Amino acid sequence: LRYIGNRIAFGYAEEYRIQRAEQLIDSVLLPHIGTNKAARYQKAIFLCEVIGRLLETSLGIRKPTDRDHYANKRLKLAGPLLMELYRMAFMKLLRDIRYQLERAAASRYPVKISTFVRPGIITDFVKHAFATGNWPGGRVGVTQLLNRTNHLATISHLRRVQSPLSRSQPHFEARDLHGTHWGRICPAETPEGSNCGLVKNLALTAEISYPVKKRGLLEKLYSLGVVPLSEAIMKRKHYAAKVFVDGLLIGYHANGEKLVENLRELRRRGEISTSVNVALYKYPHIQEVWINMDEGRVRRPLIVVKNGKPLLTREHIEGLKNKTLRFRDLVAMGVIEFLDAEEEENALVALRPEDVTEEHTHLEICPYAILGAVVSIIPYAEHNQSPRNIYEGAMGKQALGIFAINHNLRVDSRSHLLVYPQKPLVVTKASELLDLDTRPIGQNMVVAILTGQGYNMEDAVVLNKSAVERGLALSLSYRVYEVEARTYIGGEKDVIKIPDPNVRGYRGEHAYRVLDADGLAHIESDISGGTVIVGVQSPPRFLEEYQRAPARELVWRDASETIRPSEAGVVDTIFITKNEEGNKLVKAKVRSFCVAEIGDKFASRHGQKGVVGMLLPQEDMPYTESGIVPDLIINPHAFPSRMTIGQLLESIAGKVGALKGEFIDGTPFMGKPIEELRRELEALGFKSSGKEVMYDGITGKRYEAEIFIGVVYYQKLHHLVRDKIHARSRGRVQMLTRQPTEGRSRGGGLKFGEMERDCLIAHGASFLLLDRLLEQSDKYTAHFCKLCGLPAYYDLKQERFICPVHGKDAEIATVSLPYAFYLLLEEMMSMCIYP
Ligand SMILES: [Zn+2]
Repeated sequence: LRYIGNRIAFGYAEEYRIQRAEQLIDSVLLPHIGTNKAARYQKAIFLCEVIGRLLETSLGIRKPTDRDHYANKRLKLAGPLLMELYRMAFMKLLRDIRYQLERAAASRYPVKISTFVRPGIITDFVKHAFATGNWPGGRVGVTQLLNRTNHLATISHLRRVQSPLSRSQPHFEARDLHGTHWGRICPAETPEGSNCGLVKNLALTAEISYPVKKRGLLEKLYSLGVVPLSEAIMKRKHYAAKVFVDGLLIGYHANGEKLVENLRELRRRGEISTSVNVALYKYPHIQEVWINMDEGRVRRPLIVVKNGKPLLTREHIEGLKNKTLRFRDLVAMGVIEFLDAEEEENALVALRPEDVTEEHTHLEICPYAILGAVVSIIPYAEHNQSPRNIYEGAMGKQALGIFAINHNLRVDSRSHLLVYPQKPLVVTKASELLDLDTRPIGQNMVVAILTGQGYNMEDAVVLNKSAVERGLALSLSYRVYEVEARTYIGGEKDVIKIPDPNVRGYRGEHAYRVLDADGLAHIESDISGGTVIVGVQSPPRFLEEYQRAPARELVWRDASETIRPSEAGVVDTIFITKNEEGNKLVKAKVRSFCVAEIGDKFASRHGQKGVVGMLLPQEDMPYTESGIVPDLIINPHAFPSRMTIGQLLESIAGKVGALKGEFIDGTPFMGKPIEELRRELEALGFKSSGKEVMYDGITGKRYEAEIFIGVVYYQKLHHLVRDKIHARSRGRVQMLTRQPTEGRSRGGGLKFGEMERDCLIAHGASFLLLDRLLEQSDKYTAHFCKLCGLPAYYDLKQERFICPVHGKDAEIATVSLPYAFYLLLEEMMSMCIYP
């Protein structure tokens, strides 16, 4: 203690030094064990345990800890994160009170205590953290805007797991799949690129443990023959097993195996919480029993197997079907139990019921439960090359569909709706569980695989124009414009009305044509870019405006909300409400039709994406013997290198389903077998291969080869050309550099960057280069003195150029140069650098 004290409180009295050292040990050393005097004993034991493990590891008795093992990981949910946030906020409040008190003590006036507690400190702190996503401790992106592209994207977002590791470093092991991910983390759903393997998604059945009260369990343990630490050390007897609860050594037991068995039995009988997990480690010299009951462990349910027989019976399943039993009843009955990664190391899990032997302890509930939400909707996913499933894991979240049933009452700033969404013909069990059958994300299309006159090369697709006209892939897009009638200092308020023609910035009568007398657009009126949707008149903003017109009436400004320049549509709904400050709030929803067009992006559920390359009228499309015309034609080259066999299987299954009028189960690992599908197809009078004789729609000639045709579920992704198409002739320029602005929303130019410049230089296309970088950009004519090279200025009185150094006698040269370069020269001169 003296040693520590000397370091932290050097130069103080010895007594104080020791006191400080004790304080430090209590509050800073291993604070998770406790922060009072009583915890010192446990801390000492913990330290000894650490040292013991280090020695054992270096002697080779123990393997080094695997930090990517999920037994050594805990997920932080909203609760603990909020706790952290609140603790920081409360500390801030305390600091503030202390500061105020100190100030008051110095002034020596009688004061009221309540004035020291400043309201809003905690609220502001919490609100700020929520708004920015910046959490104490330097974590960013804790709060995110929930993805509402479609229902699947929402579910997937809610099950996302974000690693705190930096994405700029490789961290190969941390990004890799680990054995303990099985059933906990989806093996396919992760982004590509810098976040690969760091952003993960929970598997379908995985759940996260809640904290449990310790006291009851400790009593149970002692009654099971666990010898408390103090007794064990006094008796100095040798025990076979150490017992740890949440990482702390709490006692010894004579037989670890027996204890673990007893505990599991108690859990299955419901005498201890089902959230408790027990693991046994065996080493040559000792056994260790680890009991986990803390929060944030990822656990997964398994069927308990006893004496080579699964405990789950037909009656249980019937019960679940009749709704007389619930899943959690099965957990309470000990038929199903949740295991964390640590306990699973002690278990032998059978994959299928027929694999169960005497040795097995558990049985998997279903094989597709290892997958996450998005990947589990891929039919026959196990037949695909795995990167294709990863691509669908990203694309399924971009598909248009029904994102919420109450969409007509919602005011999401941007949203899409598929007009005729369909449940896939080839379903998976998970899509039903995820409610995706009532909120579909695509349409069943008749897909032929052939080269569509070259219009489907390089992953493009040819769409049937007539099918599109009948409503195929038709979607609606909504945008919400928001207007708040603000109150300004001085009590002036924005007024929502049709602005008077004499206000500043009046846009002309035409812009206000759809407004009703209340200043709001008439519902269902056609609008396009620049049209005013909510008329707003604002009071003068600056004081000088008041001064300039003291007697006359004040000049009001037009602050109306207009439709974005590149958009058009119909006014759908207008919501009028009040916000927190009591200001009037108007939200206007604009709807527009998105008919599929060339350039729109489509994808099957097998990572096969492509843009529309051609819309072909039905009469020009190829047709089969029976007159079936495909909705979509994809290129055969999309298959050999990608190896998405799942799509071919889905195509055949979809064909059978369409012909028989039933849904086919394509659940990964347990879908309807292909042999069966082929038999059924043959029974329906088709070729079992899925191929058919087809005729060219333009020439009427029969194709020499037979064409593979079937029904595949296609998704329309939210990358629509109408939102991206952009061109510019002349337009706005940036104020500083006088170069054209950037970005579609500002009517900007297309970037001509360094690499493009290099290209033109390499080709010697100097006039094109000059045109791009000077004429069409920021051409400027400047005047320089020929003697000193400084820019000359124009004197209006003398009507000639004057050099700042050589005066009016200087010879002046006129130079054309990019304004950005002229700006650079001026900036250099401002730093006293002679250009
Ligand atoms: Zn000069």
